[in-house]
Amino acid sequence: MQSMQEIQEYLRAHKLPEFRAKQILQAVYKEGKGSYDEIAVLPKNLREQFARDLPILCFEKTNEVRSKSGDTVKTLFKLHDGLLVEGVLMRFKNGRNSVCISSQVGCGLKCTFCATGTMGFTRNLTVEEIADQVLYFDQMLKSEQGARVTHVIFMGMGEPFLNYDNVIGAIRTLNDPDCLNLAARHITVSTSGIVPSINKLADFPLQVNLAVSIHAPNQELRESMMPIAKAYKLDQLIAALKAYGDKTKRRISYEYVMLYDKNDSPELARQLAELIRGQRAHVNLIPYNETYLGFKNAGKSRIDHFREILESYKIPTTVRVSLGQDISAACGQLAVEERKPPRPPSVVPIVQ
Ligand code: SAH
Ligand code: SF4
Repeated sequence: MQSMQEIQEYLRAHKLPEFRAKQILQAVYKEGKGSYDEIAVLPKNLREQFARDLPILCFEKTNEVRSKSGDTVKTLFKLHDGLLVEGVLMRFKNGRNSVCISSQVGCGLKCTFCATGTMGFTRNLTVEEIADQVLYFDQMLKSEQGARVTHVIFMGMGEPFLNYDNVIGAIRTLNDPDCLNLAARHITVSTSGIVPSINKLADFPLQVNLAVSIHAPNQELRESMMPIAKAYKLDQLIAALKAYGDKTKRRISYEYVMLYDKNDSPELARQLAELIRGQRAHVNLIPYNETYLGFKNAGKSRIDHFREILESYKIPTTVRVSLGQDISAACGQLAVEERKPPRPPSVVPIVQ
């Protein structure tokens, strides 16, 4: 949905009263109307005109899959230029409805373990394309169960901090009381460590959460897993995060994907603890969602041991609950089907 300002400009250009903008946003964001036909306050001729010129969603849904339990929904959106991106809704038992959204078509950063990275980068998403993914799931929740999206995570396709301005614009839309009115504290941006954007976020007034994909506690290992680490070195990244923490007093979430025999040893847990101790931070260990890229999940006992070591250094640590693996909807598994290399004949079951 276009912004209030854009809609008002359109109305002015078409010599229509500006109050229609508020009526449209109210119907779409507050009442969950998915089509102009349902907006009774609008005269019929305007409904047709708006449906053509001011579509409620700027993309089309082309495919949707639901996990067996129904708690996870993965949707493929077709953008105006035919490109495809995915978004995921995760309904947790405690009432939390999280939406994992994409910020780019593909991703150019080529982390060795990530399926999205194999797609390469095509283009940035616009503010509207980002925010509409949340609007789409909000409308779905409203109509299916009278519920709302409660949390948004930028952990779908793309590197949000290489599309900084549009991601910030979308966060403002999500937070806007006239739009989705989502608390900034319920929005999390995950970055692979783009230092200039972290510095910019330190001055952003909304209290969004920052998650940093650290994945390795030393430069050599990190570089071998994440090529972007060559451009933004680990010591430079940690310095920027310390400055960010001091300035905002917000807690940073370090994401650490647990890859069997790659980054899951007790020695690396100790190195990680030394690296971040003293910061306002917590570590989120992510069980690896296996793809066709050859890495294996570390498994429950190694993950638990890694966590115990971090906790012995008094670093708060959680292990992520992943949903939706049965429909390849979990973090790092989003890669639009047509571009995916064929899967090997046997797939190792996920150990959690
Ligand atoms: N580009 C951003 C955000 C999207 S990726 C980033 O890298 O942070 C979101 C998270 O999923 C990152 O922490 C990423 O490292 C992780 N991830 C990638 N592939 C994964 C996989 N197969 N299993 C589990 N997590 C994965
Ligand atoms: Fe891009 Fe994030 Fe995947 Fe790395 S982990 S390739 S930065 S989407």
